[in-house]
Amino acid sequence: MKKNLTNMNLNELERFITDIGEQKFRARQIYKWISSGAESFEEMTDLSKELRHKLQEVATVCSLELLKVQESASDHTRKFLFALEDGNTIETVFMKYKYGNSVCISSQAGCRMGCTFCASGIGGLKRNLTAAEMLEQVLAASRQAGEKINHIVVMGTGEPFDNYLNLAQFLELIHDPEGLNISYRNITVSTCGIVPMISRFGHDFPQVNLAISLHAPEDSLRSRTMPVNRSYPIDQLIQACREYGRKTGRRITFEYALVKGVNDSLSHADRLSDLLRGMLCHVNLIPLNEVRETGLHGTDRETAERFRAQLEKRGIPATIRRELGADISAACGQLRLG
Ligand code: SF4
Repeated sequence: MKKNLTNMNLNELERFITDIGEQKFRARQIYKWISSGAESFEEMTDLSKELRHKLQEVATVCSLELLKVQESASDHTRKFLFALEDGNTIETVFMKYKYGNSVCISSQAGCRMGCTFCASGIGGLKRNLTAAEMLEQVLAASRQAGEKINHIVVMGTGEPFDNYLNLAQFLELIHDPEGLNISYRNITVSTCGIVPMISRFGHDFPQVNLAISLHAPEDSLRSRTMPVNRSYPIDQLIQACREYGRKTGRRITFEYALVKGVNDSLSHADRLSDLLRGMLCHVNLIPLNEVRETGLHGTDRETAERFRAQLEKRGIPATIRRELGADISAACGQLRLG
């Protein structure tokens, strides 16, 4: 089994390189190549031919195979379909904003959280992604787009807190000043609400932004669409968020997909503002993107605007999010396997 060097930090890479009988400084050269998006040892032209050949025998720097690219006709969003080494597939989305380029990565192949509005979880969990597989999505998206990446959102397929150790390793790698050097403040991790992990995350990565997929202001409704709510009901979730805010001083983003006739009335907005009152937070309203299998519909613009205004009136900052890439099913909840 070849070692994937993208999984390693500089210290680990130095150990690996000296273990195969090479000089330590080679590790830094290789590390730089990996961070600049090299997909093969062949590209590492400042290494000797012999060393490149030797590395090829025992290691790899790229495990993803690009199967398909879809580009939105209405904006610069691109969706990539990658095959993993074991044949599972994942999706990654590149988005262009005024403030920079952002990549939305998957943290698992499939997902076991079973949210009913989401295409990603339909086939269940296949497996966790390694830190390298997460990092490679960023590197490949950057290479394909020919652009530098400024922001990362861990909001694609999978529940990141269900794969916490690999997520943590990925965050450390991508933040490494010797590597891509992406500021923690430019990274957002989104969870469906695995309560015990919220305080751990706040402790381990207080600078990384936290987003919570809330989607409903009451247990009966939330449990119907998000099974995680049966284990961690709203009261517990909000309490953990308040605690997180007290300890980190960071603002939490609550994601709220507006579903026509389900959670988009003014009384839902009132209940939501009661829940979040006094918390340092922001609500992202996302008119639901149609997913064929779910039979649910997005709220119209006017109703979404009324909902937003009601939250603002009650002192909760809220925006209606501009959805990128909806025409290529690259928007939230539309990613799927294969
Ligand atoms: S919304 Fe997120 S947590 Fe829920 S099933 Fe989809 S990928 Fe999993």
